[in-house]
Amino acid sequence: MAERKRRGLSARTTIRVQPPACPGRPLATTPCHDPVPALNRPASHRPATTPPDADQAPCPCDLGESRRLRLADCCGRWHGGALHLQAPDALALMRSRYSAYVLDRLDYLRETWDPARCPADLAPNEPGLRWLGLSIRRHEVIDADHARVSFVARSKSGGKAHRLVETSRFERRDGRWLYIDGDVGEPGPVA
Ligand SMILES: [Zn+2]
Repeated sequence: MAERKRRGLSARTTIRVQPPACPGRPLATTPCHDPVPALNRPASHRPATTPPDADQAPCPCDLGESRRLRLADCCGRWHGGALHLQAPDALALMRSRYSAYVLDRLDYLRETWDPARCPADLAPNEPGLRWLGLSIRRHEVIDADHARVSFVARSKSGGKAHRLVETSRFERRDGRWLYIDGDVGEPGPVA
């Protein structure tokens, strides 16, 4: 491995244009903009805002047909740009909020949370935490402005797997869907 790295370094010295050195990293055999998808990077090395190349990666919400969609064509549409905050229903908002958790988009989480309930100390993912996937169990439309979504979100941290089962309540106010709150645990039977 060390031999390979030395070869890599010496080969790199012959290239005129080198990638910028990463702050805090040794002279890089790995450029800053490496091809590892943003969602697989530890939180400590992830920028606060979604880098442009993340838009080309598969969307983290990873559901059914959407698993083939790029972030830019899935939840990324609601995270920013012309359709910012325009998730068309509670299910789309739920998925985009999961993606925002994966990508540490705290700005989007705050913007889509009932202001009266959004925690003031919303924090980035702890270093080493990896989100593994989202499964939607049920999308209940209560009326035009109220809905519930039951889901399972899996993650891994410190070698331990975690599974969050929650039924979330959503409300549409002034044409925008917001997350209100949720009950943790297995959902009850459909009323
Ligand atoms: Zn998505």
